[in-house]
Amino acid sequence: MTTSKPTAALPEKHIAIIGGGAGGFFAAITAAEANPAASVTIYERSQYTLSKVKISGGGRCNVTHSCFDPAKLATHYPRGSRELHGAFHRWQPQDTIHWFAERGVTLKTESDGRMFPDSDDSQTIIDCFHTAADNAGVKLLKGVGLKNLTHHSSHFTLHLSSGAEIQADAVCIATGSLKASPLTRALEGLGHTIEPLAPSLFAFNVADSRTHGLSGLSVQAASVSLVASALANASSRQSKPAPQTGPILITHRGFSGPAILRLSAWEARSLQDLNYHFDIMINWLGDQTENQVREQFAKLRTHKGRTLVRTKAFEAIPRRLWERIVDAAGISEDTPWSQLSKTVETKLIHELIAGRFSVQGKTTNKDEFVTCGGVRLKEIDFKTMQSRKVSGLYFAGECLDIDGITGGFNFQAAWTGGRIAGIAMAADR
Ligand SMILES: Cc1cc2nc3c(=O)[nH]c(=O)nc-3n(C[C@H](O)[C@H](O)[C@H](O)COP(=O)(O)OP(=O)(O)OC[C@H]3O[C@@H](n4cnc5c(N)ncnc54)[C@H](O)[C@@H]3O)c2cc1C
Repeated sequence: MTTSKPTAALPEKHIAIIGGGAGGFFAAITAAEANPAASVTIYERSQYTLSKVKISGGGRCNVTHSCFDPAKLATHYPRGSRELHGAFHRWQPQDTIHWFAERGVTLKTESDGRMFPDSDDSQTIIDCFHTAADNAGVKLLKGVGLKNLTHHSSHFTLHLSSGAEIQADAVCIATGSLKASPLTRALEGLGHTIEPLAPSLFAFNVADSRTHGLSGLSVQAASVSLVASALANASSRQSKPAPQTGPILITHRGFSGPAILRLSAWEARSLQDLNYHFDIMINWLGDQTENQVREQFAKLRTHKGRTLVRTKAFEAIPRRLWERIVDAAGISEDTPWSQLSKTVETKLIHELIAGRFSVQGKTTNKDEFVTCGGVRLKEIDFKTMQSRKVSGLYFAGECLDIDGITGGFNFQAAWTGGRIAGIAMAADR
């Protein structure tokens, strides 16, 4: 990759990529490979490129997800699902896998569908991008941020943090989250709407005697939902909240794990409205109903009448957690199944499948978080990723009002947007 000082000279065709992250690199490499005559430059405000790729997936980079049906893939995005459905017909995980394989990087699939480089090292992905960008002649300017953007009839002026003003024929905004970005005002000035920004993918803070001291325990197939009354005050709520099923991890601060993170993503805006104070309900047995649990208790009463209730009763629930559930139902230590009254049994069932917890704040997950909100999707043509407001202006990645749940979906959205924008910019004008 060549690094050069900003120049005021107008090249044959200058494609400016704003942001040297996942979406920006994919767009730049695609455009430069598709149109070798064009001058493609990445403007990166920091001294580091691909810094999120580096730390992603705990340093392993969860590149994409093993899901190859565009319709199914699109269901993993709380925002952007409809628009991405069409875009995935143009570039989806299968294409991502081939793209990396052609460049010598093979990916492996874990049992839950997440895909990582065989090396288990995000540096493999970074090296691949740098080599591909270098080979395609992409120029990289580090420490140069875009402060403002002016649109003229056939080109743009980029106002850079270095003080230089550069002209470009096409511009791709790939800056990641627009939180605290100076570009928000510039984009609004160009006619774009920025959907409210809110964090997504976070853990819940819960201080509760039922889970105190149990940090590290997890239940693999639990389910969690918002207590409906919590949502009455959430102004951005549009539909009924859906329970999320999967692993729940007890942490020293409360709850985390895939089911919790998914709930935080789907309810990102509602939970922000509630200032992260709300009630949740946990079913430690996933989707088991009251009747199903009652039947199991009846069997325990018949076949293990003398066994103490606090003795581990369900394979899926760790012993110490089960003891807390039993305590919370008010069952004494020496109660055997044969002596469990109907009233107390009902209490136990409620603790087990509808345990209510009060959430008081959030903790950003150290492994993965994204911003929900960004440039309004109706204002983008997803066949090209071009603005419907400003000809020659393109977008890719998290600056758009798109975010996915954990599992490689956020990077896939960045690859898809970057690819489509790169192809379109290479052909533009
Ligand atoms: C800790 C962590 C781990 C994650 N792990 C995963 C994972 O394993 N799998 C997954 O799918 N997703 C993961 N994500 C989410 C994923 O990293 C993002 O969704 C993805 O990086 C978005 O790509 P992007 O190109 O839009 O933005 P970024 O990757 O954030 O890149 C944007 C770049 O633009 C630069 N920039 C910003 N403003 C300007 C400006 N004005 N001028 C010039 N440059 C600018 C920034 O410095 C940055 O380098 C993780 C996120 C975090 C925080």
